[in-house]
Amino acid sequence: MQFTCSINDFNEAKQVIVGGVDSPVRAFKAVGGTPPFIHSAKGIYLYDEDNNRYIDFVQSWGPLLFGHCDADIESALIDTLKKGTSYGAPTTLETYLAKLIIAAVEGVDKLRFVNSGTEATMSAIRLARAHTKRDAIIKFEGCYHGHSDCLLVQAGSGLATFGAPSSPGIPDSITRHTLLARYNDIESVRDCFAKAPIACVIIEPIAGNMGLVPAKTEFLQELRALCDEHGSVLIFDEVMSGFRASRSGSFAFHKVQADLLTFGKVIGGGLPVGAFGGKDEIMHLLSPEGAVYQAGTLSGNPLAMAAGIAALSKIAHDSTLYERLETLANQLMDGFRQAADSQRIPLQTTVRGSMFGFFFNTAPVNNFDDAQKSDTKMFARFFRGCLERGIYLACSQFETGFISVPMNNEHIEMTISIASDVFKEIANGRI
Ligand SMILES: *Cc1c(COP(=O)(O)O)cnc(C)c1O
Repeated sequence: MQFTCSINDFNEAKQVIVGGVDSPVRAFKAVGGTPPFIHSAKGIYLYDEDNNRYIDFVQSWGPLLFGHCDADIESALIDTLKKGTSYGAPTTLETYLAKLIIAAVEGVDKLRFVNSGTEATMSAIRLARAHTKRDAIIKFEGCYHGHSDCLLVQAGSGLATFGAPSSPGIPDSITRHTLLARYNDIESVRDCFAKAPIACVIIEPIAGNMGLVPAKTEFLQELRALCDEHGSVLIFDEVMSGFRASRSGSFAFHKVQADLLTFGKVIGGGLPVGAFGGKDEIMHLLSPEGAVYQAGTLSGNPLAMAAGIAALSKIAHDSTLYERLETLANQLMDGFRQAADSQRIPLQTTVRGSMFGFFFNTAPVNNFDDAQKSDTKMFARFFRGCLERGIYLACSQFETGFISVPMNNEHIEMTISIASDVFKEIANGRI
């Protein structure tokens, strides 16, 4: 496979865009080599500037549940586009998309749309602090909630990849209020509660940013109980898991209800959208009903709403969708594991709906410490081997993979067979 055009494009990009990318993980730092510059995409495939074709398991890092250029999303976008792209005034599209989310997810009385997951979690935390009149928050090592200051502490994938525990440029006076607990370890949460009055606990109930690491049901139940006992707000960050793990997000797996939830990715059908919502008694504190300020020039813009409505309507009308995707995800992970086993390469695999994850690790992964014991060099070899054979996986050991609706049994079997060749090459020391 040739990457000549991408190499040139990357060099040119680096002259004008920092690191050549608009989001750090795209730079391939963890796996080496040049990121393919994408020229176009259709269905399950990405095409790069050198005309290489890849089966896409990244799906723009989650949003594209229906793959690239889904006909219904595309036509909804074109119809809407012809009526104008933004009005800065309310539309019925916003109400419609809000209703689709509220109908699917437990515990959302009201919500508000923003432009990214980062904005959603940032605003949810502001609300939780206003509601409780407390400053301290608890987050978990390895969970990522976007790049706002108070949440950028031990935040998984992008940062893990760069080995930075946090980021320069964030005052201690801000992160001082962020207490860190260990995922799936309730004692570590109790320790945090003993240190300060807690405004909220924010968690990815199905963590996807340290690799795929679901929370244990009992752990979430205990977290719910601790928040109730202390009058703290429980925030589920379902920016990734919402409409990815199931139509009701993590609820289908754990039956634990949060006070506030955040969304993004799939709810925008491939356009930039985020949302936060939850109990009316907390949400009504938000301006203009209450005093907590939050705003956005392009928030709820008609294009993003139209794409989101098209995606969520398709989900609402397809009762077996997540079962089908989960079957394919299980098939893929079983195939990877068997192929790795036969070369005596240790591999841990996990599936939640259309989300899949695999760690080059000898032991099961329940938290960020476990995840970091993975063999990232082995991951890099596997990643490059797959890429060069037309399989586009997330370019870090600490990310989640995604099955999309247009994928079928044959695509999965083909991917397993390629992965199996790559494991053989690794075992023979050829790559
Ligand atoms: C992607 C993600 C975010 C951030 O969303 P952006 O749209 O990239 O700002 C927040 N939380 C989780 C769980 C995510 O996966």
